[in-house]
Amino acid sequence: MVVTRTPLIAGNWKMNLDHLQAVAFVQKLHWTLKDAKFEAGAVEVAVFPPFTNIRSVQTLIDADKIPFSLGAQDVSAHESGAYTGEISGLFLHKLKCGYVIIGHSERREYHNETDEIVAAKVKAAIKHSLVPVICVGETAEDLEKHGASAVPVAQLRVALDGVDPKADIVVAYEPVWAIGSGQAATPTQAQDVCKALRGVIAETLGDEAASRTRVLYGGSVKANNIASFMREPDVDGALVGGASLVVDEFAAIARFP
Ligand code: PGA
Repeated sequence: MVVTRTPLIAGNWKMNLDHLQAVAFVQKLHWTLKDAKFEAGAVEVAVFPPFTNIRSVQTLIDADKIPFSLGAQDVSAHESGAYTGEISGLFLHKLKCGYVIIGHSERREYHNETDEIVAAKVKAAIKHSLVPVICVGETAEDLEKHGASAVPVAQLRVALDGVDPKADIVVAYEPVWAIGSGQAATPTQAQDVCKALRGVIAETLGDEAASRTRVLYGGSVKANNIASFMREPDVDGALVGGASLVVDEFAAIARFP
């Protein structure tokens, strides 16, 4: 069965751009990308602003019928209650977020998010009809000790445990050493690990899920290297950090072919 997966170019803004800057940015990005191919949906572009900007960006997207998807950068594993500072998936869904990044290496490192916490957040996201963008990746030390795929494969197995095979998910392979370093993985390494991750999806959720699920590469993706990743058969898009904050650069990434 041949399934075509719409490429997904996702911009993780991290803690950058306030709500006014966010609105100006999305307007400029839309203007820059406005062409027939883009409007026809050959590539899906998604932005992941900080929580405080989501409402402003969503209002703009709705009002101007901008064909971008919207996501958050994290979600609580809980639905509501005494969890000071946390944001429920229910609230994000009501703000028309379609996606949420879960288990980014910065959250794993600075907020001690374990594989089990990531797994709980994945379930919370799915429960509220958000598509989790599940981030996995090895550190430089892991790479040296275990090779590239062992740690991301193990992380994804835990994250997918007990997930409904029909759920819509996205997986992002982000080698920690490549994030923000300017040193991206090679396309061959990205392909090898993305293929191994697709194998984990097949093993845990079945072949149908494996063939429809988009697996992204992330880590120092730029306009000048995106095409080399997108030529790989198991790389279905990119999770972009730094380069997603520059309109022309991000637009060039979204126009990769
Ligand atoms: P980068 O970040 O593109 O700046 O390397 C990627 C990410 O953290 O998702």
